[in-house]
Amino acid sequence: MARVALVTGGQRGIGAAISEALKAAGRKVVASYAGNDAAAQAFTARTGIPCYKFDVADFAECEAAVRRIEVEVGPIEILVNNAGITRDATMKRMTREMWDEVIDTDLGSCFNMCKLVWEGMTARRFGRIVNVSSINGQAGQFGQVNYAAAKSGILGFTKSLAQEGARSNVTVNTIAPGYVDTEMVRAVPEDVLQKIIARIPVGRLGRAEDIARGVVFLTADEADFITGSTLSINGGQHMY
Ligand code: NDP
Repeated sequence: MARVALVTGGQRGIGAAISEALKAAGRKVVASYAGNDAAAQAFTARTGIPCYKFDVADFAECEAAVRRIEVEVGPIEILVNNAGITRDATMKRMTREMWDEVIDTDLGSCFNMCKLVWEGMTARRFGRIVNVSSINGQAGQFGQVNYAAAKSGILGFTKSLAQEGARSNVTVNTIAPGYVDTEMVRAVPEDVLQKIIARIPVGRLGRAEDIARGVVFLTADEADFITGSTLSINGGQHMY
């Protein structure tokens, strides 16, 4: 039986590449999204991968969705916490709402989703969890105290949960992408983007597929000795 994989934010950007790569690797993939119905419909039409709409920052919505997926598709054995947002501003301009929104969506989501699949994974003695962080969580970034704090929090979250899952064959790892060519990065002004590319040793932005390849590797059945790790996929930037 194909293992069931849920990719949050899995219908566009990096998440879409992850969903498709997991499907190509023989997984039964389900994607989630927040509200972009057009992208979800187009993605399902193109790939055959079903999409479930719910807010990963809202525990009750996550719970209802996970229970629905378990009934309609099967128990979740692979979880990729990929959904994320940015709300950039310097400290002077950042509001409490911008802080809360990013912390709840980018970090709170990891708690919500892991909490809901944890009992099943540990009881069945198989689970693969990948949390998507960011190079900006490793290094910090001007104008991103909220995002960097959330993405940095994922590193500690992952290392702690990995210890809890180790004896039950539930691995928990982080992937920390560098700058990847998606809508999130296309929102960066062109002159800033050129300066960023100049700092990437391989000389280009990452592709979503570069990140997806790492997820397939970490979620393989054979990857049971890799847990609590951070896989940096960033073209050599900062050499983290
Ligand atoms: P995109 O903005 O292209 O896509 C974000 C995805 O997350 C969408 O599917 C979106 O759904 C979903 N999402 C956002 N908020 C919620 C929510 N509250 N509930 C459910 N789903 C939500 O992002 P990227 O593909 O660029 O990024 C994916 C991940 O990779 C993020 O965690 C990001 O922080 C991280 N990352 C990205 C980098 C980059 O260079 N692009 C670099 C480093 C890390 P919808 O379409 O419905 O809005």
